[in-house]
Amino acid sequence: MLNLLEGFHPGTLEVITGPMKSGKTRAVVFRLDKLQYNVHVPYIVFKPRIDDRFEPGKIVSRAGDKWDSVLIDAEYPHQMYDTLSTAQKEVKFIAIDEAQFFDFSLTDVVRELIKQDKNVLVSGLDTDFRGEPFGPMAKLLCMADNVSKLIAMCSYTNCGADARWTQRLIDGEPAPYDSPLILVGDQEYEPRCTKHHYVPR
Ligand SMILES: [Zn+2]
Repeated sequence: MLNLLEGFHPGTLEVITGPMKSGKTRAVVFRLDKLQYNVHVPYIVFKPRIDDRFEPGKIVSRAGDKWDSVLIDAEYPHQMYDTLSTAQKEVKFIAIDEAQFFDFSLTDVVRELIKQDKNVLVSGLDTDFRGEPFGPMAKLLCMADNVSKLIAMCSYTNCGADARWTQRLIDGEPAPYDSPLILVGDQEYEPRCTKHHYVPR
């Protein structure tokens, strides 16, 4: 299941995916670290402006590792071209974190970057709280040369089985299917196994 690449692969799309708390950002940080120590490939990290869970302008794994990132408006992934065209060095490795929040046109941008011989690494949730494909991720997974599916551990009481779904809870109860995809306010997310992933209709 786990198939993380190492090294530098121009003209390639890699996708790291999985539920909440499966270590996706940590995997991106690990990859960037290795690239810098070994080959010094000029890189950039993009993330959607919508994600303000941690420090803005950084990607931060739950283990506390931090990397600077460039914030892009989620509705306008084409802004990535502007950033790249003004970079001081030619960027060769592009990491895109929390990709599920970007507009579907992210897939066009990624395709163009691959044609330009960039090594693109995308990470994000493959499914939303309903268990359905999240934003542009499904198409990106189809386009990928290499996919790493990470798993978490089910948070349901005393379970601990392999978790590949993200459970949304509102006031401690499973959120209904028709609650909005992006919800502001009190809510929690937990990794869950298939048996314990509940989406009341
Ligand atoms: Zn479970």
